[in-house]
Amino acid sequence: MLALNRVAVTYGNGTQALKPTSLKLAQGQFVVLLGRSGAGKSTLIRTLNGLVAPTSGSIIADGVGSLDGERALRVHRRRTGMIFQQHQLIGRLSALDNVMTGRLGYHSSFRTLFPLPRSDRQLGLECLARVGLLDKALVRADQLSGGQQQRVGIARALVQQPRLILADEPVASLDPETAVEVLSQLRHICTTDGITAVISLHQIDLARRFGDRVIAMRDGSVVADASVDELTDQM
Ligand code: ADP
Ligand code: ADP
Repeated sequence: MLALNRVAVTYGNGTQALKPTSLKLAQGQFVVLLGRSGAGKSTLIRTLNGLVAPTSGSIIADGVGSLDGERALRVHRRRTGMIFQQHQLIGRLSALDNVMTGRLGYHSSFRTLFPLPRSDRQLGLECLARVGLLDKALVRADQLSGGQQQRVGIARALVQQPRLILADEPVASLDPETAVEVLSQLRHICTTDGITAVISLHQIDLARRFGDRVIAMRDGSVVADASVDELTDQM
């Protein structure tokens, strides 16, 4: 559903964060990016969403084509849910209102989003229910635990009805048990809905446990790309 053709990224200060990389992601695949801090995982994830423009190479998305035009990018981003390490929720808004910000790409501005169209609100409640937080819909985000906040982050991605979910270190701020719960839930939802997911992690045990495919990165390059069975043999 997504193909990278020799995509490279060099930042303004000269750092070559991503060396020419070619990859194909299949629809419904749960892909883990594994690597230490500085390996280029965030850069690759942000490139997949057009938040960072490739310095060279191209990205082709199914149904959209090459992501080099504004229009193509807008369509692609609308259907791409992002999940962040620090969840990036608005603390004083309710869980539901945070989820609803995921609909922004479908509306021209906040003014048309609040008050919420009823159908959107229903969808938002369904997404909260899927992460087990329907009873927290009206609770302020800053009153929720870290794990609950990240599940609101997942619901906010789901409300976009995404084809692709990109998650940059989504469990790095959680304790190990909560991390496993959140990843299990995310994986279950992506598998059920056929959503392609690219998730960066730095723990190999979690990568093995949850990835259909593990792409290991070091110094801006892909150094291993394998299904989990192959990886277990190699490492
Ligand atoms: P990560 O959790 O991916 O390791 P970092 O702490 O490296 O994140 O980076 C946090 C933010 O700072 C990111 O938005 C990243 O783009 C930016 N950043 C990281 N390294 C540099 C750098 N050398 N120069 C400028 N910005 C940077
Ligand atoms: P990871 O997510 O694996 O920690 P990053 O993609 O954040 O890796 O970083 C890859 C390299 O690019 C690092 O050397 C980092 O310092 C650098 N980098 C990241 N963001 C920026 C930025 N905005 N400007 C300059 N350098 C950056």
